[in-house]
This record gives sequence, C-alpha cells and structure tokens, in this order.
Amino acid sequence: MKIKCPKCKENAEVAMDYSVVKCGSCDLDMSYGEYVKFVAHNQPRYSDILGDYASGGSTEGHTAGSLDEWD
Ligand SMILES: [Zn+2]
Repeated sequence: MKIKCPKCKENAEVAMDYSVVKCGSCDLDMSYGEYVKFVAHNQPRYSDILGDYASGGSTEGHTAGSLDEWD
C-alpha cells in the first residue's frame, strides 16, 4: 500500500501486514508502529485524532486549555 513518506514526502510503501514502512526515495525503513509515532509527532492534529481513539470517544479528560481551540 502506498503512503506518503513522512521524511521526504515521496511515495513510501507499507507492507501488506503493516509490519514495515519503506521509502525508495530516502532511507526510511521503520515499523508501522514507529511510522505512526513519527507522523503523530510531526503533526499535532493527527496526534489529537489518535488521542480521541485512545480515549474511546469519552468527553472526559479534556484539558482545560482545549476550549481555546474552538474559539
Ligand atoms: Zn522518503
């Protein structure tokens, strides 16, 4: 499966079993778990999405400062 390389923004490839992510344009070669962390680290919005999944959709646990984002 083709994905966007988080390093060089070219086409990278995810193995069918999601075991590894490789990019032919740079030396990217990491596990899919590492890839998700890498992307989440570089895209705070994506990290929020993952956080919502992790919390099971509960509205509890939002930080007090999060309301500022809705302004
Ligand atoms: Zn790359």
